Amino acid sequence: MNASGTSSLSYVQSSPGSPWGSYLMQIDRVAPHLGRLGHWIETLKHPKRTLIVDVPVELDDGSVAHFEGYRVQHSLTRGPGKGGLRYHPDVTLEEVMALAAWMTVKNAAVNLPFGGAKGGIRIDPHRHSEKELERVTRRYTSEIGIIIGPQQDIPAPDVNTDARVMAWMMDTYSMNIGATTTGVVTGKPVHLGGSLGRVKATGRGVYVTGREAARRLGMPLQDARVAIQGFGNVGSAAAELFVGGGARIVAVQDHGGTIVNPAGLDLAELIPHAHRHGTVVGFAGAEVLASEDFWSVPCDILIPAALEGQIGAERAARIQARLILEGANGPTLQAGEDVLADRGILVVPDVICNAGGVTVSYFEWVQDFSSFFWSEDDINVKLERILVDALKHIWHTAETLRISLRTAAFVVACTRILTAREARGLYP
Ligand code: GLU
Repeated sequence: MNASGTSSLSYVQSSPGSPWGSYLMQIDRVAPHLGRLGHWIETLKHPKRTLIVDVPVELDDGSVAHFEGYRVQHSLTRGPGKGGLRYHPDVTLEEVMALAAWMTVKNAAVNLPFGGAKGGIRIDPHRHSEKELERVTRRYTSEIGIIIGPQQDIPAPDVNTDARVMAWMMDTYSMNIGATTTGVVTGKPVHLGGSLGRVKATGRGVYVTGREAARRLGMPLQDARVAIQGFGNVGSAAAELFVGGGARIVAVQDHGGTIVNPAGLDLAELIPHAHRHGTVVGFAGAEVLASEDFWSVPCDILIPAALEGQIGAERAARIQARLILEGANGPTLQAGEDVLADRGILVVPDVICNAGGVTVSYFEWVQDFSSFFWSEDDINVKLERILVDALKHIWHTAETLRISLRTAAFVVACTRILTAREARGLYP
């Protein structure tokens, strides 16, 4: 057992506060609710396949730099690996393992026919030119080419990667195998087999699951105060939809700093400002706040939509919101989760809250296979139906078993994964 959040794998160190350690503790919480399937639980503590690659690249000045790259296929039990690729200077194998495992759980929680995978490169993309990033992406794609493919493992955008990066990956994979293969990645540009609605899908999912949770809590969205950490793809799209639903965005924090306006930030001005300057800081229609004070801003809904490990016990004790929507993967640590539960603050967990992105990735993959493309309205209706049904099922499980929404999402997901695991049997 790994009840302390420490790993039994020799190739990775973890602790209760590290991403893989947090994941192990989540798995330990779900185990007692799995009945006979609990017999297979160790499977989920062992990533199926872990690839570390060297990515040597010629920089614009003629020198050569080496970057460390990873692709982890945590589970292929229910279908091909699926999950994003992130570029960040702090990426580690341990982090990518946890992110891959959360993809396994997320895909099963919303019942997509995928396993779970994730990739990462230890690089600060802001310090490299577009040409350097293209060479890094192409070499990395070539190196992991032995384990990806439309039926094997399908990468997608994540932190600091986007449609342009996916186009380079699709091209590199296609050139290497000698056939244009659009379905090898999702989140591509629409003119290269990408799906309408994919860019805003994660933010839309945060809104849909948040709206459903608020309704069940009896909390009206009209005039609700929303605070958001992270103003990339996820945070900004969710912000627009919440404002459309009658809410006010009272605080935004990004890598540059924190801004507040209790009367509500004007998104029509803020979004172009953030695009122009790469940060929300410097926006004229707001006051600046010290970073740590973001966590005690008076608000009704808090959306962490940046990186993992943000909410520990100390920040959890200061949060004013009634509802937390995890737009990011793994933003709440176990110690934080327990404090939030004691304080009666409801958390809609990442594995359902931010599943809108991978759900539209699934639609993209299906559209690529059939070469038949759907309208944006059709996509949004299908996305909404999948997320509303998934939340309803998880809510019911939480109420019946008297457990948190996170543990309930894990119960639903792990039951699906381990039922498939048992039916497939152990080879040989
Ligand atoms: N990176 C996103 C996530 O964490 C999307 C993954 C995908 O579309 O495959 O869910």
